[in-house]
Amino acid sequence: MSKFHVFCIIGKSGSGKGTQVELLKKKLGKTKHIINGDLFRAFIKLDNLLSKKTKKVVNSGGLPPAWLSAYLWQTEFLKPISAGTKAAIFEGTPRRIWEADILDDVSDYLFDQRSVAIYIDISDKEAKQRLLIRLVCKKCKQPVPYKLIKLNPKKCSFCGGGIEKRKDDDEQAILKRLTWFKTDVLPTVEYYKKKGRLVHVNGEQDVPLVFKELWSKLSKRLKS
Ligand SMILES: [Zn+2]
Repeated sequence: MSKFHVFCIIGKSGSGKGTQVELLKKKLGKTKHIINGDLFRAFIKLDNLLSKKTKKVVNSGGLPPAWLSAYLWQTEFLKPISAGTKAAIFEGTPRRIWEADILDDVSDYLFDQRSVAIYIDISDKEAKQRLLIRLVCKKCKQPVPYKLIKLNPKKCSFCGGGIEKRKDDDEQAILKRLTWFKTDVLPTVEYYKKKGRLVHVNGEQDVPLVFKELWSKLSKRLKS
């Protein structure tokens, strides 16, 4: 694959975006991977007015403003990109139409192209079930694979770090996130569909099958 590619991967919390991105990176080679959730988690640890306000919003399951999200991922492009990078992947963003507009502008400017959105689709019911039992590593933030959750692991299988439940995974916060997913994110998915830049994937399959569908649809686009 010689041409540079720009992707964004969108889906409800619990849809397995991170897992799919890791598989995608193996196919694409060196990637600039921007994880919206990580940017926000780092940002809310800072001691300033904007961080404190955002911490409240995020921890209660709210959707922080698009300008802040766009600001955080844009600052990632102030850092050097290593030579031989084959693609940029935005994980968990954009989540509003006007953020998608900003991303289009940035991609035009930096990469002479616009991003293809990958939507990992799961139902509300599935998202709730997954999130209520979700555990993550305190250190590397990797989610514990669903198959291991019932074994009640004490240590992360990737880095050996401790295990915790995410603070924003209580039922009320989950419902709030599902609500703004409908009002804000789904119209953004529609935006990509209308522009002919959407790859829609059924996320309610086993991980390898989700990726099989994702890659077969995406690679067709990349060839054309
Ligand atoms: Zn870990």
